[in-house]
Amino acid sequence: MKLSFERSVAGRRGVLIPKTAVPSARLDGALLRKAPLRLPELSEIDVSRHYSELEQQVYGVNDGFYPLGSCTMKYNPALNEQVASLEGFTGIHPLQPAETAQGALEVLVYAKERLCTLVGMDEMTFQPAAGAHGEFTGILLIKRYHESRGDCARKKIIVPDSAHGTNPATASMAGYTVVNIPSAPDGTVDLSALCANVGPDTAGLMLTNPNTLGIFDKNILEITKIVHDAGGLCYYDGANMNAIMGAARPGDMGFDVVHLNLHKTFSTPHGGVGPGAGAVGCKVILAPFLPNRLPVRNADGSIGLLDPEQSIGRMKSFYGNFLVVLRALTYITMLGGDGLQEASETAVLNANYLRVLLEGELPAANEGFCMHEFVVSLEALKKETGVSAMDVAKSLIDAGMHPPTMYFPLIVHEALMFEPTETEGKETLDAAASAVKSILARAKTEPEALHAAPVTTPIGRPDEVGAARNPILRYDFMEAAK
Ligand SMILES: *Cc1c(COP(=O)(O)O)cnc(C)c1O
Repeated sequence: MKLSFERSVAGRRGVLIPKTAVPSARLDGALLRKAPLRLPELSEIDVSRHYSELEQQVYGVNDGFYPLGSCTMKYNPALNEQVASLEGFTGIHPLQPAETAQGALEVLVYAKERLCTLVGMDEMTFQPAAGAHGEFTGILLIKRYHESRGDCARKKIIVPDSAHGTNPATASMAGYTVVNIPSAPDGTVDLSALCANVGPDTAGLMLTNPNTLGIFDKNILEITKIVHDAGGLCYYDGANMNAIMGAARPGDMGFDVVHLNLHKTFSTPHGGVGPGAGAVGCKVILAPFLPNRLPVRNADGSIGLLDPEQSIGRMKSFYGNFLVVLRALTYITMLGGDGLQEASETAVLNANYLRVLLEGELPAANEGFCMHEFVVSLEALKKETGVSAMDVAKSLIDAGMHPPTMYFPLIVHEALMFEPTETEGKETLDAAASAVKSILARAKTEPEALHAAPVTTPIGRPDEVGAARNPILRYDFMEAAK
């Protein structure tokens, strides 16, 4: 497709700027640009078609099934958007005095109170802009806690091998040494490996439960006790909260700090580099270290902004992505406590339904029930036919659905991870299972066709590493003029 600059025709206009009613003023010549701004020159319909074409090239939750494991691609209710576009929320400025923005601050406190109840924590900041940013904030709280006690020998963070890649990255960014411990054969934390690795140098443990295999670790109380007994703190990666809302709380499992991806579990749009929110909740022992500008309710009921005395500082400007928090609060309020619990129950039911439909065709990485997601291994298929998890995932695009997560978690070979979420109906799950089955049948008869998939998209298999390492982010006018 053409870029807007390539569609540009010299002199073409999409708007007629009305004559101004105020007298014009002369600007200092030094402030004027020397050459006119290079903007694409387009008519209104050119612009409209350009964006329609762009829109048709992407795939979102509104286009169809999107079982991207660990990413919780659930439907984002339109009501969230309506509330987030109310002028009283969009027309305020982060620098205006707190007493003139009490409604917006009420949103933050109200959201904080509800989410703290949901996860069993005492305080919460909305400053971090995403999950990984929340992890970094949470681990800095743990670090500052140990430092405040003069306990400076704690240099290690324990992370199980089933962890999301951001966990070890976070610990190491915060200056810790990462200690990787293996999982037991059933996918849970290997308790003997944990015991062998905790000690006076343990700053903490990072864990997600249910883990990235979709398994709830039943030994969780023992795990957090082992870490606490050694003087460490426990960090809960709450990106998987979609499985347990209303059923279990990280605070009750013994965790001291948790991040929530509001852009996953709480239905605010994500993907495409849009804004997110990595809310970080903590127990009272960590509250003195929270980032500054913490909205708190004063004795008279008004809301003020607190800079905790031993704060780790600022993690992002102002209050974080306020409109994302507002969308999440809208979602929470619309569903209510019972509705959130039902959402989680349905997410778990949907995952198990799809898992059972695929059973026999695709061996699950672990036996038994899963939580909100499950992982299958295509290792046998690859050995037998040469068709990889990547080939199957790409073929699913031609079948009209978004692929599941591929090659994650790292401990499962040729992994595909399905997370259907609660917002899908039975027909969608049935259709997805038949699509997978027909691809698996084709793998035996025409494997080459699957190596070539997808064939229905504008591009087939992009150079993903090249795109990540050397992204082309600006239009090269010089090159275009050649
Ligand atoms: C998505 C996810 C993260 C990271 O969240 P971002 O918002 O992408 O930074 C961390 N842990 C788990 C388990 C996740 O699924």
